[in-house]
Amino acid sequence: MTDCLFCKIIKKEIPSETIYENENVIVFLDINPVNPGHVLVVSKEHYVNILDAPEETLKGMIAVVKKIAPVILESVGMNDFCLGVNNGHDAGQVVDHIHFHIMPRCEGDGHKHWKPIPYKEGEMKELAQKIIEKI
Ligand code: 5GP
Ligand code: ZN
Repeated sequence: MTDCLFCKIIKKEIPSETIYENENVIVFLDINPVNPGHVLVVSKEHYVNILDAPEETLKGMIAVVKKIAPVILESVGMNDFCLGVNNGHDAGQVVDHIHFHIMPRCEGDGHKHWKPIPYKEGEMKELAQKIIEKI
């Protein structure tokens, strides 16, 4: 895609700190990290999000996560990481080219998990049923 930021990074039209690439996937440091070593695992083929991308593409991206995440953690001296994918603008996706965030985490880094909103009486069962009927 001509007007896509990540397509431009993939084509090296925009510089990036690329740490790994293979035929299908590129990994570079996020310009605005939540912790040092925050990288983006990006499909070289342009797809918008998980629903748009073929399973083979997603499998290839996950294989790269498994290969690269331990190396990043060792490099930044952290043990754990969050794997994030924002699908759609309401979910916080800003760049409309599929990417996984690998975000190294350490105790006391100040990042909170999302805040739960409890179901009202009976709501949970009702919703589960509604979803099951559509699968
Ligand atoms: P999203 O919100 O779409 O899931 O995440 C997009 C990510 O891309 C953000 O974390 C943002 O910091 C990162 N980003 C935006 N522009 C650039 C850029 O020009 N270079 C790099 N390396 N990362 C970028
Ligand atoms: Zn793109």
